[in-house]
Amino acid sequence: MKLLSGCLLLFMMSCQSFPDTSASSDLMQPASVAFTGEKSLAKAAEEFEPPRVDPPTTAIPSASVILSKKQVPILCYHQIRDWKPTDSKTSKTYIVPPAAFAAQMRMLADSGYHTISPDQLYAYLVSGAKLPVKPILLTFDDTDLDQYTVGYPEMKKYGFKGMFFIMTVSLGRPHYMSREQVRMLSDEGNAIGSHTWDHHNVKKYEGNDWITQLDKPTKTLEQITGKNIRYFAYPFGLWNTAAFPELKKRGFVAAFQLNEKPDKADPLYCIRRIIVPGTWTGAALNQWIQRDF
Ligand SMILES: [Zn+2]
Repeated sequence: MKLLSGCLLLFMMSCQSFPDTSASSDLMQPASVAFTGEKSLAKAAEEFEPPRVDPPTTAIPSASVILSKKQVPILCYHQIRDWKPTDSKTSKTYIVPPAAFAAQMRMLADSGYHTISPDQLYAYLVSGAKLPVKPILLTFDDTDLDQYTVGYPEMKKYGFKGMFFIMTVSLGRPHYMSREQVRMLSDEGNAIGSHTWDHHNVKKYEGNDWITQLDKPTKTLEQITGKNIRYFAYPFGLWNTAAFPELKKRGFVAAFQLNEKPDKADPLYCIRRIIVPGTWTGAALNQWIQRDF
């Protein structure tokens, strides 16, 4: 626990400057520079009216009931690529080399884990729906292209599905997924969630920020997938309770953080995940899953 919390802290510190840093790193492109076609995409997104599906009507059980359930392990990945000499020690905690990712997926398959969807997780937490044995939710943040080109093919070997949290400003940029690739992931049964427009910290939103960071990206993602977007991941894992009503009134039924303790009153809006470091072998990951969830 201590080790990972430390890693997460470092990770968050390293990401704090994300929107403003230079484009030298795959993860750190300047968010304020619009890519070609952004205007027309934004316009199309504005014009698109997705068919809204009402949120589930099942009564939400009390927070204590939800918190008393055994946690489903939820893993969080970012870049899946070989380390470069310029990668810092901190970076290596969230850049997973393809061979390590392959070993981790093989371990999950060999150990009998079954990937589940966020809808399955939600149904389990809210209505007590049954899950397969050894359930696990694989999540991917930040729209990195290698999640599609390297990570997903590895998952497909075992029939695994994932949840991809998309930062819409990056769509179509070099080193990031295109709209078509996101559409393909969705069509093949993976879940797509929102990770804001340009990764700004939710705790600092004011004025029109909710529209820029939530409403417009949600429309874009619904236009791409043809499905309602119901799940959100906080940039940097940072959240506060002021965000909950904003998410709720926009139809989000759950939100994912990183490794902080969940809110005691509203645990569905701060579901816990762990970042899998690139240094972990399959065995290390297995050990961690069993110890931490
Ligand atoms: Zn992120």
